[in-house]
Amino acid sequence: MVMRNGLLTLGLIVAIPLLILCIPIIIPYVAISQRLQRRRLARTPCPECGTPFGYAEVDRARDACQESTRKIVADIMARGGRPRIVAMWHLRCPACDAQFTFAPSTNNLNPIDTETVI
Ligand SMILES: [Zn+2]
Repeated sequence: MVMRNGLLTLGLIVAIPLLILCIPIIIPYVAISQRLQRRRLARTPCPECGTPFGYAEVDRARDACQESTRKIVADIMARGGRPRIVAMWHLRCPACDAQFTFAPSTNNLNPIDTETVI
């Protein structure tokens, strides 16, 4: 048991500084990958008409998703639950008004069938 605690302590002594050393790498990586994802999506042509979505629509969809996610998480946590949320951006083509969902975690763009009533 003493040996196991010693290994655990040694592991923490090695792991914590490594984690701290990785922070200057992780933060720029996340910032750059988000910027590239934003640019790629803004330049993506609408599957319906071919017009690129543009930065304004991508930023609007991202901000709306963040705001609604923030409210949902706060509501779940206020009730004592554990939030498990998959973020989905709702994009609207600026030219033809077609609607799509974009999953930033998988880069999937899917049309929303607006004619189907559930
Ligand atoms: Zn379109």
